[in-house]
Amino acid sequence: MCTSHAHPNSPALTSDSRVRRSTARSANLLAAARQVIPGGVSSPVRAFRSVGGTPPFIIGGKGARITDADGNTYLDFVLSWGALALGHAHPLVVEAITLQAERGTSFGAPTELETELAEMVVRAMPAVEMLRFVSSGTEAVMSAIRLSRAATGRRKIVKFAGCYHGHADSLLVQAGSGVATLGLPDSPGVTAGAVADTLTASYNSIDEVEALLSLHPGAVAAIIVEPVAGNMGLVLPSLGFLQGLRRLTTAHGALLIFDEVMTGFRVAFGGAQRLYNISPDLTCLGKIMGGGLPAAAYGGRLDLMEQIAPSGKVYQAGTLSGNPLAMAAGIATLRELGKPGAYESLDRASLAMANCVRDACLQADLPVQTNALGGMWGFFLTDTTVTDFASAKTADTRLYARVFHALLDEGIYLAPSQFEAAFVSTAHDAQALEAAHIAVTKAVMTVRNRGAD
Ligand SMILES: *Cc1c(COP(=O)(O)O)cnc(C)c1O
Repeated sequence: MCTSHAHPNSPALTSDSRVRRSTARSANLLAAARQVIPGGVSSPVRAFRSVGGTPPFIIGGKGARITDADGNTYLDFVLSWGALALGHAHPLVVEAITLQAERGTSFGAPTELETELAEMVVRAMPAVEMLRFVSSGTEAVMSAIRLSRAATGRRKIVKFAGCYHGHADSLLVQAGSGVATLGLPDSPGVTAGAVADTLTASYNSIDEVEALLSLHPGAVAAIIVEPVAGNMGLVLPSLGFLQGLRRLTTAHGALLIFDEVMTGFRVAFGGAQRLYNISPDLTCLGKIMGGGLPAAAYGGRLDLMEQIAPSGKVYQAGTLSGNPLAMAAGIATLRELGKPGAYESLDRASLAMANCVRDACLQADLPVQTNALGGMWGFFLTDTTVTDFASAKTADTRLYARVFHALLDEGIYLAPSQFEAAFVSTAHDAQALEAAHIAVTKAVMTVRNRGAD
């Protein structure tokens, strides 16, 4: 059988009765983009390589919906990879950005907006006493790692397979096979030296972490973890995992870094550290905190953060850091999220989506595992319980591609990869969820009725 993903970029497919959407304009835009931008995209997953087909070029969004260049509209469950908690073009965010734009967009000098947003974050996040703004999650993590090495005088870092911490060289290590595996670089151009001090363990395995710490006594500067993993699909921490990391790092004199770039202000107003009541030494933030504009931060214990220049000797800087437009968007966003009921509405919406996908798959006899937490949700097309990257990889990625395209044709925009989380915003109201329910049920049935390729 012929489905749209089997023939990427073929305009002829639009005459196929099974393909409801036109994609001609997006296909033309992609062809033009490819001439001047690698793969036509500014970040690799956007190119749809793992599901095939043409990525819709987006011309606008409002609330829970986005519209592409061919005039198709979709219910958006990607939400700029989780950065938008209030949906697209929220009136208060637009107003805040507009007001600031009229006053100037960047000064490279301190503004009161930075203090205001920093105070909001410090009040919300139990383990953040002081923070420094940067422009991307990658920078936040890179800087937190530098600080952890400076503060401990140690070199090694422990990360978990399947956790993504941005694209800094030392963290571009994905999976070691088993305990004590030294990292191998994930990308050409990353030298063996750059990752020589990166150790990898399996998510949710305290035993592997303990073994690594014993194998490298006095050498581990920090353990960095996504407290709720969202970059291998959505994988929740098992009972005691985060507590175990806190206990082991304290016992071994290493720092605990929570990478809350995705989870901060998404799983709860104070992030996973508030939800699970664990105090990491350092916290990385991004995405929602910048209200959909480029802002990120790293923060934590006062004695650590005061080691950052110019208070201390650890150098870190940025031309556009604390950008006024991003600060204004972040303040407006956190103000809305701080109102009563915001996270209850996110919880309800993510659970409704996870349940709706689970029910549709079970009815269609497709294997499925689902998760939901705060404004995050996700599903794996497998019968195996997913607790780490190895079990996540049992998911059927070809089946995912078929489900993904059937959903896209029904107006549901999900991440073009089985190994990404899905999101909801406060704009995903009862009406949007009802529409999603109908579309998901129909799309999953279509996949089942078409059978395998
Ligand atoms: C998105 C993400 C990053 C990287 O942030 P960028 O702003 O894309 O550099 C780092 N860590 C986690 C957990 C993320 O989800």
